[in-house]
Amino acid sequence: MNAVISVLEASVVYPPEVRALDCVSLSVAQGELLAILGPSGSGKSTLLNIMGTLAPPTSGSVIIEGCDVAELSDRELSALRGRRLGFVFQHFHLTDGLTATENVATGLLYAGVPRKYRKRMAVEALARVGLAHRADHLPHQLSGGERQRVAIARAVVHEPALVLADEPTGALDTANGEAALALLTELNAAGTTIALITHDRDIADQLPRRIHMRDGRKVADTALTESLT
Ligand code: ADP
Repeated sequence: MNAVISVLEASVVYPPEVRALDCVSLSVAQGELLAILGPSGSGKSTLLNIMGTLAPPTSGSVIIEGCDVAELSDRELSALRGRRLGFVFQHFHLTDGLTATENVATGLLYAGVPRKYRKRMAVEALARVGLAHRADHLPHQLSGGERQRVAIARAVVHEPALVLADEPTGALDTANGEAALALLTELNAAGTTIALITHDRDIADQLPRRIHMRDGRKVADTALTESLT
């Protein structure tokens, strides 16, 4: 398997003894689209944070494209994050005073893309998410669904190896949530590897692979159960 990311027996313990993640292992192959599913407090965000190198596990390892992230300096880690990972958040996290194009272009700041290419690439990414006609709009001039599409364009503009999305439909109504999911599915069909957190069973059920979390543990992984059947 061509793993984009492997998490190996990772635990995260918050002092004095909250075991937010308890010996979780999983691998994501290139081209996968998977949901990390579970009730509030089950460890989904903690898992996504260690996958995104935003926090190290207390024990265990995270391997991204064959590289053990524990061996990287802070600078190397930032470069890895900026070039190889893309992030989508529940509340979009767009910058207020910047246009849609400028917001998407910020996704290239840490990817080592020269300034003269950034705008063109941002405009192309906005076209990919169906928002070419909103390129010069500011976030407050966009609907929630449009803002999330801008955020998704920002997450993919540098063609990352892996997109990590934290409840990407959580702040949207049903129709816009479905549209955001359809967009992620479309990007996945074009080759983007995506892991998303959701507590919404209907959303998760639409994805090809589901990892169930409970009490910090991975209690089911459809990639493993389906390969047994
Ligand atoms: P989920 O994303 O599934 O809601 P989290 O990963 O946020 O779950 O949290 C898992 C557990 O870890 C919860 O019991 C939560 O209260 C605890 N937790 C998360 N972050 C911290 C922290 N910074 N300090 C202490 N406990 C935390």
